[in-house]
Amino acid sequence: MTLRKILIHPDPRLKAKCTPVVDFSTDRAKLADDMLETMYHAPGIGLAAPQIGITERMIVMDCVKEEGGTPEPMVLINPEVVWQSDERSVYDEGCLSIPHQYAEVERPAAVEVKWQDVDGKERNEKFDELWATCVQHEIDHLDGKLFIDYLKPLKRQMITRKMQKLKREMARG
Ligand SMILES: [Zn+2]
Repeated sequence: MTLRKILIHPDPRLKAKCTPVVDFSTDRAKLADDMLETMYHAPGIGLAAPQIGITERMIVMDCVKEEGGTPEPMVLINPEVVWQSDERSVYDEGCLSIPHQYAEVERPAAVEVKWQDVDGKERNEKFDELWATCVQHEIDHLDGKLFIDYLKPLKRQMITRKMQKLKREMARG
């Protein structure tokens, strides 16, 4: 497994509309392992392929946060929301591509998602609570959408400026 570098906003690859995955060779499982390792290492609860510069429709997540809880790593390829609840919920969201910034985002409280696993097999599951927020946040990434795109322009610009500053500092080392 290899730790991948996580792109920091703003970056054109984070704004890209990602392409569907058609190749389900063994490399797919290797990429999934890399993405999970990178996510756990960060640490985070979700990661989308464009965040490591791969503009393909693939996400990983594990929303088990309790200390000592059994990990539930999930790999979702070509995920699609097929149903969403009328009920909505608000979570304080963050993003590995926008470090140390958090803001409340309102989304459907529950969603049903269909996707393909690393072998290309069709899967389908209903998600609620944190899992529902996370899967919607990650699917947004595949369409070039970030959680700050839900915020008011002023707040979004403020966060973007902070990230530009952070990237300059990181470039200087
Ligand atoms: Zn994110």
